[in-house]
Amino acid sequence: MSEIRKHYFLSEYCIIAEERAERPSDFAVAADDRGKNDSHNCLFCGGAEENTPLATAVYKNGKTYSDTPEKRVRNWDFRCFPNLYPALSPVLGSQEQKENGLQAEPGYGFHEVIVESPLHGRRLEDFSNSEISALMQVYRDRTCSYATRENIRYISLFKNSGKKAGASINHLHSQLLALPFCPPPLERELKAIRKIEECPYCTIFDLEEASPRLISKNSEWIAFTPYYSTGPFEVWLLPRKHVSFLGDCSDKLLFALGDILKAILKSYGRVLGNPPFNYMFYQLSESPEYHLNLRLLPRISINAGFELNTGSYINTVSPERAASYLREDLIHGE
Ligand SMILES: [Zn+2]
Ligand SMILES: [Zn+2]
Repeated sequence: MSEIRKHYFLSEYCIIAEERAERPSDFAVAADDRGKNDSHNCLFCGGAEENTPLATAVYKNGKTYSDTPEKRVRNWDFRCFPNLYPALSPVLGSQEQKENGLQAEPGYGFHEVIVESPLHGRRLEDFSNSEISALMQVYRDRTCSYATRENIRYISLFKNSGKKAGASINHLHSQLLALPFCPPPLERELKAIRKIEECPYCTIFDLEEASPRLISKNSEWIAFTPYYSTGPFEVWLLPRKHVSFLGDCSDKLLFALGDILKAILKSYGRVLGNPPFNYMFYQLSESPEYHLNLRLLPRISINAGFELNTGSYINTVSPERAASYLREDLIHGE
């Protein structure tokens, strides 16, 4: 029989309705297009710097540079620049527009692309420990650089990997949107958190560290499939230490994050056959009661009419089963 599960601390629900899938390979989806050699005319490749907007930050051998109209930095490790088709623009508008009581304001904000390697076809799971740790530091740096801008309330930092996960360019990258409002899901969390005496995420840490949903842990982080999982093989990474955003993270914490993130991506690759996936940071720079977390979701199922209609999810693989496959893989997979 299926089960309706409630979120850890919100009034949100998912339905765990397992189908008769017996082997991990039954969950495998068509491998994404990441390995494809389509570097021809790729805007994100090293050497194509002239074809993008001027970089806002270029990371090279541990130092930060920026492009000038006269000279673009070459031979970089990570390169950040405004999105070619930005959803928001960095000009602070003042005019509120009203149409018959409807409300709109100018689309102020920042939309940046973080290119994570100059080489086409590289994958995060193949990064060395120091490379992935350097990338986590870039994430921290970019978050901090936007969190303090005028009228910015939320930093959305995420990766779309593979076409089915929303990536339009098949070259390793993430995106950052700095928004002038706090998104409703985060508002809902904050409201609930403020009513609870202890941080619910600290409680979740203790619960999941000892649960059948634990996949892996290191000195600083745990990786687990959440009790309330919105889709098959959803994984949350949660730090033991209560920090509210990437800006609070020490180098040590970021090194350990890179380590566990890489392990989960490798395991996704082996168990699910390189699925398209998204990962998203959940963080609030000005709410110390919030507890930073990173959520990964392979795009195995599609959010369709039911999900759009109800804001609830049907998940056909229980988190306990998903965790057992990923955990087994990490024990035997290397
Ligand atoms: Zn490329
Ligand atoms: Zn906490």
